[in-house]
Amino acid sequence: MIATDFRREFRSAQPGQRIRGRIPLGTSASGSELGIPWILLKGARPGPCLWINGQVHGDEINGLLAGFDFINGIDPARLHGAVVMTTTANPFAMEARRKKTPTDEEDLDQACPGRADGFMTQRLAAALFPIVAEHADVTVCMHAVGTPYEAVPYAVYKLHPASGVEERTLLRLTAHFRPAISCRMSVAAGGTELPGNIAGALDYQLLALGRTAFMLEIGTGGRAEAPHIAQTAAGLRSLAAEMGLLADEAPLPRPARLLRGTKRGHVTVAHGGFARMGARPGHVAHAGTPLLRIENAWGELVETITQPSDVFVISLRRDPVVQSGDRGAYVAWEWDEMTLD
Ligand SMILES: [Zn+2]
Repeated sequence: MIATDFRREFRSAQPGQRIRGRIPLGTSASGSELGIPWILLKGARPGPCLWINGQVHGDEINGLLAGFDFINGIDPARLHGAVVMTTTANPFAMEARRKKTPTDEEDLDQACPGRADGFMTQRLAAALFPIVAEHADVTVCMHAVGTPYEAVPYAVYKLHPASGVEERTLLRLTAHFRPAISCRMSVAAGGTELPGNIAGALDYQLLALGRTAFMLEIGTGGRAEAPHIAQTAAGLRSLAAEMGLLADEAPLPRPARLLRGTKRGHVTVAHGGFARMGARPGHVAHAGTPLLRIENAWGELVETITQPSDVFVISLRRDPVVQSGDRGAYVAWEWDEMTLD
């Protein structure tokens, strides 16, 4: 059976129950029911609610699988509070194996809080966002880097001036996941992030309502990377323990230090051709180190991408085929080491 009224189920589920449901989104032309699938674990005792959003971008899979492993490893009879997972917040993008909604080419993570009578991406946001905002104490928004790129798991958080959620709190929460770096992401327009309405992100709009939320970038899209999935599932368990959801379990020991990225952006390529990596994602590349080398269609070296100062390499292009303007590398230009005690 598939439940369709999340609010009612959250209120009336029996302690220790696991419920599967769908947030309704209407119907397809062929008559299928459309919706966002969710899992609710209602604890045996009261407590906070941890919400995992498995993906907003349809081709990002590792975090979703980590959510499954975490949830399937919990005994609801021992749970205090609730764990909820929305498997995919954009089922249309997922079934098309792509980032954005096929029917309107919009990015769900730029569409919150949404519009119930709008285009499909706006409807997705309007269906999901209020339900998360009403119930979740902490929301983990799962992502991965795009399928042409390679990265090791890292975290991203935003600061909302009115949220009351402090940077230190967000950094400590991301530390459960052992990220290579935790990046503070600006929502200002015209910066070095991807173009678009970054303030429409699920985590930022939750922060605007005083809810705690952050993002994890778990490896590469379009893949199931077992070590990254295991690391993330362990992080979810540690976070749940810290929140008091697993009352007889302690969180993982907190790492003493965490890298914090404070200025980052994309490095694009000037020449088309075939790119080969010269550096490693998740590590510092020193000034002048080749990040990528590009040979053209005639086998001639036409571009060596370097940076004038040391950078932390967040992700690098894995798919070698490039043309002018493609994203080659994603780097932090400024970072520091935070003490978490
Ligand atoms: Zn994403």
